[in-house]
Parts: sequence; structure tokens; C-alpha cells
Amino acid sequence: MLCQGWAPLPLDEELQGHDVDWAAERARHPWAFADAGAWQWHVHAFVVRSRGGFVLVDTGLGPFDPGAPWAESVTPDETFASAGLESADVRHVVLTHLHTDHAGGAMRAGEPRFPNARYHVHPADWAHFETRNGRGESAARHAMRRLDELEALSLSPDDGEIASGVSIVHSPGHTPGHRSVVVTDGDDHLLLTGDLLHLPAQVSHPDWPSSHDLDTARACASREALLARAREGGWEVGVSHFARPFGRVDPQGWSGTDS
Ligand SMILES: [Zn+2]
Ligand SMILES: [Zn+2]
Repeated sequence: MLCQGWAPLPLDEELQGHDVDWAAERARHPWAFADAGAWQWHVHAFVVRSRGGFVLVDTGLGPFDPGAPWAESVTPDETFASAGLESADVRHVVLTHLHTDHAGGAMRAGEPRFPNARYHVHPADWAHFETRNGRGESAARHAMRRLDELEALSLSPDDGEIASGVSIVHSPGHTPGHRSVVVTDGDDHLLLTGDLLHLPAQVSHPDWPSSHDLDTARACASREALLARAREGGWEVGVSHFARPFGRVDPQGWSGTDS
């Protein structure tokens, strides 16, 4: 796991319209909260060591603004260096979606930060972020046009294995082309959710949309389907924005691990 930093985001902007017992959530998951009115929005990416080389799942914000002031942060270069990751060793970059907190670190000074990697973006996100419902092209996508010129961009819509043991799964709703990643090692599975989840309360209530979800009905359906697979299969789960990203889906809800 790579953490670029975290910022406190207001609780009253989350899970709006639902009767959330924040005191109970805080008692169960104290690490998730910053103070009385805010949660800890961490910006994580994940590195998978596959037989075919390193696979990076998301890239953090890179040089882009987090939107809310960081409480703690490191530079984009420090983010990757902290994992001992050499840019040239990364063979695949999966961008779960094109929000800047996931795709912002894809480029450096106008060129691919990972020069030997194939970058995977779902075509529905590539199309959506060109105009974003009538607004301009998103900053992260604009920076990534160079990948297209270099033919380093895979816009295949297909689910499936992109490297040994690393599979991509379309999980739309948060954005139209949102993807999650399933890592398989023998009988063990790890689901890297992307933005299927923002708060642990959504594990026990997958029908509670995040205020960041574009199409709430599709987002809830994707969340319910993948969390059910994770629960039934006993999969480990890694969540981009949880302060403690790893855990499992228990019948009672999120069960975090300290790693
Ligand atoms: Zn997002
Ligand atoms: Zn996000």
C-alpha cells in the first residue's frame, strides 16, 4: 500500500439522506475519523508483485490539489520511493477510474511516470472524462493524452486477467468505467475496491450511496455484488480511502486488520 496523505472531510457531506449512527461507527472504527465532524480521507494506491512484474493499482493525486487541505502528505515521488518502486519496473498501471486522486500520479512532467507500463482505463471513463457532463476535460485525462499518442493506453472494455493473478472487473456507478481489481494467489484473493467504498458504514449498508457516486443505483448494485463475493469467498479487501485499508467483509460489516 502506498499512502500519499490524508485530509479531513466533513461527515455531514457523506451518506446524506440516511440515518447514520455516527457514534456507533466511531466506536467500532475509531481510526476512520479525524475529529467530531470529519473522517480521514486517505489517498492510497496499491502495488502488486506479479510473476510478470509490478502492477500498480491507481497512482494517487500526483501534483494535483487534494480539494481539501492535507493534514499529512508526502510528495508524489516520495509516495513511490517509499515502496522501493522503480518506475521502470512497473509493467501495468490499472486506473480504477479517472478522478484525480486515482489517476493524478500517472504522468510526470508530461511523460508517463512508468515508461514501460501499459496503462489500463475503461473506455466508458475515457469517454466520460473528456467532457464530464458538459464541463471541460478532466485534468488527469488531459495529462494522459500523451499515453494514447505513445500507444501505452489500453482502452479494452473487457474484464479479465491483465497480468498473472491480477484481474480487472468493471464495477460501474461511482463513475461509468469504474473498475475494481481482484488479485489471486493460490486460494487467496484480495479485492482492491477502488471507490466502491468511502466509509466502513457502507460495508454493512451497501445500499447507501456515497455522495461521490455519479450513478447511485449502479454504484449500489456494484458494491452489493462485489462485497457479497468478498464475504462469501473470505477475500481480503483493500480500500483506497480507508485510513486502515485492509480488512474483510464479515456478516456484521467491516472487519479491519492492522496491516
Ligand atoms: Zn473517485
Ligand atoms: Zn477516490
